[in-house]
Amino acid sequence: MSSIFTKIVEGEIPSYKIAEDERFYAFLDINPLAKGHTLVIPKQEVDYLFDLDDNLLADMSVFSKKVARAIEKVIPCSRIGVAVLGLEVPHAHIHLIPINSEADISFSRPKLKLSREEFMDIAARIRQELNQ
Ligand code: AMP
Repeated sequence: MSSIFTKIVEGEIPSYKIAEDERFYAFLDINPLAKGHTLVIPKQEVDYLFDLDDNLLADMSVFSKKVARAIEKVIPCSRIGVAVLGLEVPHAHIHLIPINSEADISFSRPKLKLSREEFMDIAARIRQELNQ
């Protein structure tokens, strides 16, 4: 059975898309720690990030960098924090999270509740930055 993230890539499950190319897909995390919290995934369904082919893993970092640059232009923050957990969804993904302090990237914190309109607005603004 396909992972929930493969279903997102294939459009079977909706997502707030940020960016896509032939090999990678980025979308907003539905339970964000901060506005702009984004997940980057390979389209290839591999459970564990560090099982990815070397070239795919390297290129995923470069793809994430472009996305991070766009997020930080839209969401004021000190840094884009990068996290890999993979405890919930068995499809490799990198979390990109706007942070101002260490506490901002604590996954045990309560998640933000954003409206559909807020998610759509954030995604549209980040996409716009990527298209500059
Ligand atoms: P983890 O596997 O521990 O890195 O956590 C999986 C992450 O995926 C969590 O932050 C979830 O909020 C996020 N997530 C799960 N399902 C969806 C979905 N359908 N759309 C966007 N984000 C999701």
